[in-house]
Amino acid sequence: MKKNILILIILFAQNFVSAHTCENETVKCPIDGKKVTFCVTMSMSTFGTYKDFQQQGAVGSHYEELINTCPKCHFSGYIDDFKVKLSSEEKNKINEYLMKFNNQKIGEAEQSLIAAGIKVIQKKSNKEIAFCYLNGSYLLRESEKQIDFRKEIQLKAKEYLISALANNEYEDKTVFANINYLIAEMNRRTGNFEEAIKFYDLAINDLNKQDWVEEVAKEQKELAIKKDDNNKI
Ligand SMILES: [Zn+2]
Repeated sequence: MKKNILILIILFAQNFVSAHTCENETVKCPIDGKKVTFCVTMSMSTFGTYKDFQQQGAVGSHYEELINTCPKCHFSGYIDDFKVKLSSEEKNKINEYLMKFNNQKIGEAEQSLIAAGIKVIQKKSNKEIAFCYLNGSYLLRESEKQIDFRKEIQLKAKEYLISALANNEYEDKTVFANINYLIAEMNRRTGNFEEAIKFYDLAINDLNKQDWVEEVAKEQKELAIKKDDNNKI
C-alpha cells in the first residue's frame, strides 16, 4: 500500500514538473484580417536558465508560441501586436517590408526576425526589438544547418541591446550589468571574443550588478579567452 502511494506521489510530481499548459486564442491579422491562433502560455515551471537567459525546464513550446505569423501576409509579432489597429501609412510600410518574404519558407526563427523588422519600422524601443531577435536565436540553439542565420540574428540582438543601453531604456541601474553580460554572450556566440571580453568586464566591474553576475560572467569570460563559441549552453 505504502509503495502504491509513493508511486502515486512520484507520478503526480512528474506531471506537475512537466506542466507547460497553453490555451488557444484567435486574433485577426491587422493587415488583412486573416485569423491567427496563438497558444498562450498559462503556466510553466522553470529550473534556471541557459547562459543567454532562455528559461530551462518544462517550458514546452513557450518560445515558439510567443511570436506568431499570419499565414497570408506574414505579419508577425506577439499576440498584443495583432490587437493594435495600424494606420494606413504603417500598413503600407509594413506591407512593403513583408513583400521580401513572399516566396520564402517561414520557420519559427524567421517569425521572430520578421516581428523584429516590423518593430524597427514602427520605431519601437531598442530593447523590445533586441528581445525579438534574441527569441529567434533561442529557437536555433541546436540547429547545425542554420548556424549562419543564428549568428546573424544574434548580431542584430547585440546591436539593439547596445542601442538600448545608449538610449537609457533601462531605468533600473542593477540591470545594466545583465545587459552588458548578454551583449558579451552575443559576441562570444558569434565568435567576437575580444569584444566579448570587454563586455564581460563591464558587467564584472559594475558596482550596481546583481549577485549572480560576477561568478557567471567570469566563468563565461574564461570561455571567450579560450575562443569557445559554444551556443548550446
Ligand atoms: Zn496577414
